Amino acid sequence: MTADAAARVEQLRANLAAVHERIARGCAEAGRDPGAVTLVVVTKYFPASDVLLLHRLGVRHFGENRDQEAGEKFAEVRRALADAGEPDLTLHFIGQLQSNKAAHVAGYADVVESVDRAKLVTALAKGAHAADRRLQVLLQVSLDGAASRGGVLPEQADEMADVVAAQGLLDLRGVMAVAPLGADPDEAFARLHDVADGIRARHPDADWISAGMSGDLEAGLRHGATHLRVGTAILGSRPSLL
Ligand SMILES: *Cc1c(COP(=O)(O)O)cnc(C)c1O
Repeated sequence: MTADAAARVEQLRANLAAVHERIARGCAEAGRDPGAVTLVVVTKYFPASDVLLLHRLGVRHFGENRDQEAGEKFAEVRRALADAGEPDLTLHFIGQLQSNKAAHVAGYADVVESVDRAKLVTALAKGAHAADRRLQVLLQVSLDGAASRGGVLPEQADEMADVVAAQGLLDLRGVMAVAPLGADPDEAFARLHDVADGIRARHPDADWISAGMSGDLEAGLRHGATHLRVGTAILGSRPSLL
C-alpha cells in the first residue's frame, strides 16, 4: 500500500469509528438495537479506491446517486473484489432517476431507494427482467409538500406502494426520505414514520425506513430509521457539488 493509501485508510477508519459511535449513542438514547440499523456509506464523487478501502474496513452497503458514475465505479469495484476472492457488497441507488436510465441501473444496483413514479416502476421492472435480476425498492417520500426534489407526496404513497408491489421482480421494502432543507428533521422523519406505518399495514415486508444522513442521523434513529445514508461524515467533503 502506498503512503497516501495508508493515510487515507486511517482517516476513513477514524471517521467510520466516529459514525459508529454516534449510531451506538443514538440507538441507546432511542432505546433501539444498533444491530437493527444498516449503515449505507455514500461514496458519490469519491473513487473506487475509497470504496475498496471501506470494504476492507468492513463496510458492505454503499450508496450512489448518479447512474454513469455508479455503474462504472462499481463494475471496477466488483471486478477487484471478485479477483481477490473478497465478499460482494450491496449497492443502493439513492439519486433521482430518469426512466430512460432505469434499465441500466436495474443491471447493477441491488436496492433502488428513489422510486417515486409509476413510469419509473415500469422501467425498473423491465430492466430487472432483461438483466434477470430482482431489485429491492424503497419509495422516496417528499416531505416538503412539493415533489421538486423527487419523491411521492405522503398522501400518494399508499397507491404508489401498490404499484411497486404489483411488479413481480421488484420487492417493495419500505420508504426513504431526505429531510427538507431548513426544516426540523424530527418533524420530517416523524411524518415519514407515519407514512411507513401506513404502507407496512398493507405490505408487511416493507419494513425499512431509510432516513438520516451525516447531519441528522440521530433524528433518523429517533424515528425508526433502519438505514442511514452517510457520506461526508465518513469520506470528507465532496470535491464538487454539481
Ligand atoms: C449525498 C446523499 C446522502 C449523503 O449525504 P451526507 O450529508 O454527505 O451524509 C444521503 N442521501 C442522499 C439521497 C444523498 O444524495
